[in-house]
Amino acid sequence: MSFSQVKDQKIALQLLRGIVRQNRVPSGLLFWGPNGVGKRMTAFEFAKAVNCNDSEDDACDTCLSCRKTINGNHADIMVIKPAGKMRMIKVDVIEEVVETAMFRPVEGGMRLVLIEDAERMNLGAQNHFLKTLEEPPSQTAFVLLTEWPRRLLPTIRSRCQSVRFGTLRFETVVEMMREKGSIAEDQLHAIAALSQGSFTRACDLQKSERRTIALDIVQRLAQGEDPLLLSEEFAVYIQHTSKAIESAVMSEAKQEMAQDPDGEAKLDKDDIAAQVTGLVRGELFEFLVLFDAWYRDELIYDLSKTRQLIYNRDCLNKLKTEIDVEKHAAKIGALVDAWKYIERNLKPARIFRDLFFTLAS
Ligand SMILES: [Zn+2]
Repeated sequence: MSFSQVKDQKIALQLLRGIVRQNRVPSGLLFWGPNGVGKRMTAFEFAKAVNCNDSEDDACDTCLSCRKTINGNHADIMVIKPAGKMRMIKVDVIEEVVETAMFRPVEGGMRLVLIEDAERMNLGAQNHFLKTLEEPPSQTAFVLLTEWPRRLLPTIRSRCQSVRFGTLRFETVVEMMREKGSIAEDQLHAIAALSQGSFTRACDLQKSERRTIALDIVQRLAQGEDPLLLSEEFAVYIQHTSKAIESAVMSEAKQEMAQDPDGEAKLDKDDIAAQVTGLVRGELFEFLVLFDAWYRDELIYDLSKTRQLIYNRDCLNKLKTEIDVEKHAAKIGALVDAWKYIERNLKPARIFRDLFFTLAS
């Protein structure tokens, strides 16, 4: 493994190779971009390359430092992640790592602290981290990884070297999914096209039942099933999903409390509710993306008569032909509206009932 293993991130790699070559590593680097496009892998390769003894702007993978990093026992490469499903990075974690950074790196090179999902640092943690960036310990670099840079304090963002990551190319997702295991070619195509350039999303689409449910709904609507009944069925599904999400979040929170040595942690009901709301909302958005792709496909298939631009290529025979373009445009418009209503926190049951009526027309 080396930088050459990272796919499709040419600009980010150019920048990072330059930093390694000149041996001028900033105290803070902010790796930002969508999930599932290679940020973590690149950060790991970067940490390795910075401390590599044998390569100019990459990791050789054979020197002692590289081997230690690969085996996960390089004393100066540290990884911080949010803990539990509450998924916060608390101030004491940052304090601890900053304290360690006051000492010289053990291996004599540079200390690299990778902070995954950095936006999960709570405000206390962010403030403490900001102070650290203002007077950074020498021979130490912090690499923040995030999909949501705007959830970090602007003062943190401005003190970090920005390294932007883009989405993966369609062909790359196809290739990675193919490597992962056997999957029918048309389904592979559909999943890669719907993944929006994220490998994580592609994997999620493959293993969750979401797509099957979404496809079932659009087809039953097209066959003339009552949108009211369908929306009630969907509301029950969403209720079950919400309950499952809630109990997962609760049990993680309780587990975290039980592990807290000082017993100071409290079950923060507001925080839990916010977590659950966010996760359920994410689930609803995923459905909108799938519905949107379906009606978009029907529209494009009808106009182009070729399968070239179709996302749901594995369901080609189920796409409606001879469609009413105006009605389809209204359906896509209704999906955009539903998106807004979910953002405004309106009741999902109501949003999807109205939506299904438009989609049925
Ligand atoms: Zn090396």
